Amino acid sequence: MDCLFCKMERGEIPVKKVYEDELVFAIEDINPQAPTHILVIPRKHLVNSLDLTPEDDLLMGAVYRAAATLARERGIAEGGFRIVNNNNANAGQSVWHIHFHLLGGRHFAWPPG
Ligand code: C5P
Repeated sequence: MDCLFCKMERGEIPVKKVYEDELVFAIEDINPQAPTHILVIPRKHLVNSLDLTPEDDLLMGAVYRAAATLARERGIAEGGFRIVNNNNANAGQSVWHIHFHLLGGRHFAWPPG
């Protein structure tokens, strides 16, 4: 499949995986928006949250646990961090394989831009 994150998952595009387990892997974002900006990426190809079914419940648990593990490892857990999932055009989704941004290391405004 001609999908950037599927190619990374299969090792066809070399990337440094900063975390991986059976269900997800994580990489540093190429265009970081915060001192810590990591993408947690399900191995399974889903376009975005609209594709989730009950069989993905375990997968979503793995996403959040991976993000929490990475937040602790990077020292941003106590200070505060965000987990962001952009879905479709108005939210700015640009890669059409579901992924979750782990952002931390600075203050974030609310509401988001
Ligand atoms: O939520 P959205 O789809 O916009 O996020 C895609 C993210 O993937 C962007 O933050 C972009 O910087 C990142 N990216 C990357 N490596 C690539 C292509 C995109 O880290 N080769």
